[in-house]
Amino acid sequence: MIETEMEQRVTQKAALPAPLIPLERLAWNYWWSWAADGESIFRDLDPETWEECEYNPRELLARTSAYRLAEAATDPVYLERLHRIDERFRSYAISPPHFQPQGITKEHPVAYFCAEFGVHTSLPLYSGGLGILAGDHLKSASDLGLPLVAIGLLYRYGYFRQRLRTDGWQEEHYGETFPNELPIHLVKNEDDTPMRIEISIRERIVLAQVWRADVGRVPLYLLDTNIPENVETDRWVTGHLYGGDRETRIVQEMLLGIGGVRLLRKLGVSPHVFHLNEGHSAFLTLELAREVIQAEKRPLAAVIDTVKRQCVFTTHTPVAAGNDEFEASLVTRAFGPGYLNELGLTEEEFLALGRVDPANKSERYGLTPLAIRMCRSTNGVSRKHGEVSRALWQKLWPEKKVEEIPIGHITNGVHAPTWISPLLRYLFEQHVGDDWEAKLRNPVAWTDVVARIPDEELWKAHVNLKERLIAFIRQRSAQSRIAAGEKADYIEAAKTMFDPAALTIGFARRVAGYKRWNLILTDRKRLLKLIDNEERPVQFVFAGKAHPQDEGSKLVLQQLAQWKYDPAVRQRVVFLEDYDQEIARQLVQSVDVWLNVPRRPLEASGTSGEKVAINGGLNLSILDGWWLEGYDGTNGFAIGNGNDTASVAEMDGADAESLYRTLELEVVPRFYNRDNDGLPRNWIAMMKRAIQTLAPRYNSDRMVEDYARKIYPQITQIR
Ligand SMILES: *Cc1c(COP(=O)(O)O)cnc(C)c1O
Repeated sequence: MIETEMEQRVTQKAALPAPLIPLERLAWNYWWSWAADGESIFRDLDPETWEECEYNPRELLARTSAYRLAEAATDPVYLERLHRIDERFRSYAISPPHFQPQGITKEHPVAYFCAEFGVHTSLPLYSGGLGILAGDHLKSASDLGLPLVAIGLLYRYGYFRQRLRTDGWQEEHYGETFPNELPIHLVKNEDDTPMRIEISIRERIVLAQVWRADVGRVPLYLLDTNIPENVETDRWVTGHLYGGDRETRIVQEMLLGIGGVRLLRKLGVSPHVFHLNEGHSAFLTLELAREVIQAEKRPLAAVIDTVKRQCVFTTHTPVAAGNDEFEASLVTRAFGPGYLNELGLTEEEFLALGRVDPANKSERYGLTPLAIRMCRSTNGVSRKHGEVSRALWQKLWPEKKVEEIPIGHITNGVHAPTWISPLLRYLFEQHVGDDWEAKLRNPVAWTDVVARIPDEELWKAHVNLKERLIAFIRQRSAQSRIAAGEKADYIEAAKTMFDPAALTIGFARRVAGYKRWNLILTDRKRLLKLIDNEERPVQFVFAGKAHPQDEGSKLVLQQLAQWKYDPAVRQRVVFLEDYDQEIARQLVQSVDVWLNVPRRPLEASGTSGEKVAINGGLNLSILDGWWLEGYDGTNGFAIGNGNDTASVAEMDGADAESLYRTLELEVVPRFYNRDNDGLPRNWIAMMKRAIQTLAPRYNSDRMVEDYARKIYPQITQIR
């Protein structure tokens, strides 16, 4: 049934008018999504359809009326723009690499594995930070000309979409992804038949077809088991992202790791290095071992070094409980005796690879111990997280002191061209130069040129963006109020909520315990005083999803959401449903302040605040993750006293107090302190400091270059 439905939805495609053919080329490569004028070239074709098809350019081209297309095809201004962006796309494709990392070539690229990829809103294969980071990694690799091939899964239902009932309780629903509506190619063999990857799971052969999304110069290959050759259960292996039970999770991970390696072999790609982005893909190391064992008839112990040489691992989880673990019986059942035989291992020897203590038969099988054991390098995602990971995994090296544990760090960054607003990009082009992305790679030069941006212009751009955000908030709120069946006057009220002149604070992230959504609600009276202040009002935008099984977080969300009818706050506090890349973009480009209050030291890095900094927004955050490195006293605000040893209750209390004090005594006064021109000079100075000091460090070009210089090159074995 799935098949017929899919066929029906194959879009009827009339030929594009000849002058618009370049649009077709652009639509099939996600490069447009971070190129200047890339989004607007599609949006301007038909803004309503653009929104309706959730910013999917292939859909847009299929659904825009023939007349509208003919209009664009005869509009000289539009065609001139199209010509320019098409030229840039062509020269981008052949632009020389920015550096030549040792050993990495087109023939021997980096193979980057991840369970989720957040490339663009219209490709819903991500749940949150990990996926967005992976997407940004691909884009920077492409920009820098670093040869890289990415491997992931095509989930038929992606991650859940969020709706709140009128009583504030979160409901989940899933939208089906139809590959035939996305700009992704079915990968074929030379004889034009669809390529199939074969893997034995639960003692049954499972086949996967393969899709390719082009992310600039980086191909992203996506495995998909939803094909008629598979039995129904196996078609669901790639059903949901993080939605299934433990068994689904492990079979997905087998497909990603083992299937991914087999795919690369079929494609004739021979990677210089395999990058395991989080432990989900750790089984790829077993497949590499199996290959050598089968070819050279040597035991596993003799081939581990060969595997290790090729593999590097990035851990993202600062808590033991966040690491993927499985019951031993589940693992052996999923793999089946055949795979163990090919590895030449008994069940216990096989299970020992995933245990901290190989001899402890009651221990569960963990992907992080497996990955650490089988990779030549392990790193965390911020300095603090490196430290935390060394302590967390010291148990794997019982003979070493914690400072000797070989786990380093590379701090996460964000892809500047993706996250910067078009208006700020324009400002950079005017004052920094068209080569602002290149200048961003040179912190010293960058600081000087950013200083040249006039205060007035920076502020004006920021205010314009806030106005856009408020229009967005009003529109989205009205839509969800109508959808939820709210009362007419409440729907009507959405039209006037929020004030562009008021201090606007954004708080958007997963609703999870350690993110402490309720910290801000600790003292409601005090909070109300900030919000309900006629002279110096503060307004809050919230967004974020709670894990479907996390009832506690759903309750926190409900508490906050139920506040919406309170007349004192309803015009100044909003919760935007269904946090995704599009909402993130709206928020990070426009808020005055980005709030983050994780419980230390549980924020491995965090990246959303980095997106804000690039746009001149100010972080108000606990000194944890990337902010512990980024904050310098002049480029934003810090909360808390950095005391790691206090109890949870003490820490939460102290941090809440510090949050209120910082808001009352530093943030609000600085924002509302205006000069004779009506400008908040001190605030603007801080915005500039944020752009100067944070943008060059916390962007993904710097991050990918760090990986390419420090982690990816294989060090020649000294024997
Ligand atoms: C950037 C981003 C994240 C990561 O944010 P954190 O700072 O890690 O909370 C999550 N979700 C979306 C949609 C994002 O764009």
